[in-house]
Amino acid sequence: MALLLRGAPVAAALSEDVAARASTLAERGVTPTLAIVRVGERPDDLSYERGALKRCEKVGVAVRRLVFPDDVGQEVLLDAIRSVNEDASIHGCLIFRPLPTALDEAAVCAALDPAKDVDCVTDGSLYGVFSGRPVGFPPCTAEAVLALLDHYGVSLEGARAAVVGRSLVIGRPVSMMLLARNATVTMCHSRTRDLGAVCREADVLVVAAGRPGVVGLEAVRPGQVVVDVGINWDERSARLVGDVDYDAVSGVVDAITPVPGGVGSVTTAVLARHVVEAAERSCR
Ligand code: NAP
Repeated sequence: MALLLRGAPVAAALSEDVAARASTLAERGVTPTLAIVRVGERPDDLSYERGALKRCEKVGVAVRRLVFPDDVGQEVLLDAIRSVNEDASIHGCLIFRPLPTALDEAAVCAALDPAKDVDCVTDGSLYGVFSGRPVGFPPCTAEAVLALLDHYGVSLEGARAAVVGRSLVIGRPVSMMLLARNATVTMCHSRTRDLGAVCREADVLVVAAGRPGVVGLEAVRPGQVVVDVGINWDERSARLVGDVDYDAVSGVVDAITPVPGGVGSVTTAVLARHVVEAAERSCR
């Protein structure tokens, strides 16, 4: 059976470090503070918000919630983002997406100061991810993947990595972050020919396709580490499942993340770390 790469110990270790850094900031009179901008009451957003509030409270990060109705106007939302930018006591800002279709999401995200962009919604943060420069922050989920691999001592230097999915939120940033760690990265997507053969080549396989079962027995071999980022609701079993066929794959590979309880449990700890890092940068 594969080693189970649980997220909880990773989140605990990250939180310990973040709490120590937050308390150093507090000694200097700075309370690292996150603004959460939420439009509407989508259950997914509310659930993530609850987790973020709990995590932030635990590590000494303050949270201010800016909540708007579904029919909020574009200018009202842009004003809120501008006020976040101008408020020196706010260090990071999380904007829940997708925004209602009546809003221009790209314009709202672009209005945020990249220095406060703790979840990579601005072009500035994307530039940071692609260039390796300390501009903005990578997406929390993408960084959670790297934090998990690091915590369990998975060597990336010179490793062959395959990433299934090329979204700007997960696939592409994860690929860039693996590349920055000197892995040799293959990015896969819906048009990739013989996905199974490409995945089998990899030492480290990261799957973020939003398709349950997209990676099964044909895509794995012994010796691999598999990180399943997918979160899907399976009607048949009435439970959350990943993108990897866990039952088939876990008997073959060396290590695998569970869903739930894997990458998803690390993201709020990364979010808190980004807020503290943003506060530290603002004091330099
Ligand atoms: P997305 O924007 O829909 O992107 C999916 C990507 O997967 C696309 O690049 C797509 O290729 C590729 N893909 C789809 N079907 C494929 C197939 N059959 N074979 C190979 N590639 C395929 O999704 P996302 O936002 O990146 O999210 C991916 C998953 O992560 C979802 O399950 C989401 O719920 C989950 N997620 C988890 C967390 C967490 O905290 N664990 C956070 C956010 C999201 P094309 O580009 O060719 O269309």
